Amino acid sequence: MENGKQKYAVSVRNPSQPRSAARTGPGQLLDLIRSGRARTRAELAQATGWARVTVAQRLDTLLRAGLVVRARETSSSGGRPPETFAFNRQAGVLLCADIGGSHTRVAVTDLEAGVLAEDGADLDVALGPEPVLDWVAVAFRSLLESTGHQASDVRGVGVGVPGPVEAGTGRLVSPPIMTGWDGFVVPDYFAPRYPVPIAVDRDVNIMALGEYRVGGLEGHDDLVVVKIGLGLGCAFIVQGRLYRGAQGAAGDLGHLARGGDEPCRCGNTGCLEAAAGGWAIRRELIRLGYQVGTSQDIVTLTRAGNHDAVRLVRRSGRLIGAAMADVVGLFNPSAIVVGGNLAQAHEPLLAGIREAVYRRSQPLATRDLDIMPTRIGANAGTRGAAVLVHEHLFNAERVNARLLSSA
Ligand SMILES: [Zn+2]
Repeated sequence: MENGKQKYAVSVRNPSQPRSAARTGPGQLLDLIRSGRARTRAELAQATGWARVTVAQRLDTLLRAGLVVRARETSSSGGRPPETFAFNRQAGVLLCADIGGSHTRVAVTDLEAGVLAEDGADLDVALGPEPVLDWVAVAFRSLLESTGHQASDVRGVGVGVPGPVEAGTGRLVSPPIMTGWDGFVVPDYFAPRYPVPIAVDRDVNIMALGEYRVGGLEGHDDLVVVKIGLGLGCAFIVQGRLYRGAQGAAGDLGHLARGGDEPCRCGNTGCLEAAAGGWAIRRELIRLGYQVGTSQDIVTLTRAGNHDAVRLVRRSGRLIGAAMADVVGLFNPSAIVVGGNLAQAHEPLLAGIREAVYRRSQPLATRDLDIMPTRIGANAGTRGAAVLVHEHLFNAERVNARLLSSA
């Protein structure tokens, strides 16, 4: 598996038309088994419409590669039960990192994004790529050691970063808060130690994957996830898939023009973030004489019922809600999930967002709209990084390419 030709990717772009061999390849069977849609030879033959001999051959390829195992089942009728198959989530591990503006989290998971061990540290991303990634690399090594694994057990690496990532390369492009990272290709850092697929994406995109796949929101196939910390961002799940846009730049919520003349940290004026982001709330609180450094300080003041903090957070909610009303009008999602550090102050924040969205949206668009706080909190990023690399690794066509080329 480590020798796959396509090493880096943040998404499956322009997948080539499957060859006839690939359409009946082992990857399609693995899809059915992983999702639980088919688990016996008969179910697999029925789901694919393939001849039994083809199913048997492809299944054999998956068993030999260690990706599928025979599962034990007991028959209630007492007769000999049909042989059932399951995805082998223990056939290696994934390394995941969620690099934030001021805090970084790492985890080692099984192949289904189940966490085996995790760690985190306060780390300023503006220190630059080497100091931050050196910490991540050391943490990866100790997590592997603590779970009894080696570098050779790693099947993929998933990384989220708080800035725009070029789709297909993992290169940072003019990230506003990531001093020293412009042009840095994150996969190049990890590739010498881990010669496996390395997937890199924006922090809010991996958060959305985590909320959607691990947070129990799979009924919401049209979903907006908003990340509210010192900055602002959002991500879209469209018909069950993460939507990144043509260049990977979709969801740049923080720098939508809302008017006004507050200077933004991106260099423009009048950005939404300059009025509603955590750093704008911090700026206002400091003007009022409070000592505030991190988004956690804002959360602490808000939770303590401080009048100024509650008022400013609620105002942010209304401003973000006005932008979300535009998103609801254009995109008609079934849910908006609010995460990020400031989401811990979710009562005034969600109240402000709901107020603006419901006031400004069409009744049909909001009839069944859920606006909810994060389901899995601070862990959404690392879970989503695991989902990101899992989806890359087990894409049916990639599985076919790996297994059929080595056959
Ligand atoms: Zn801006």
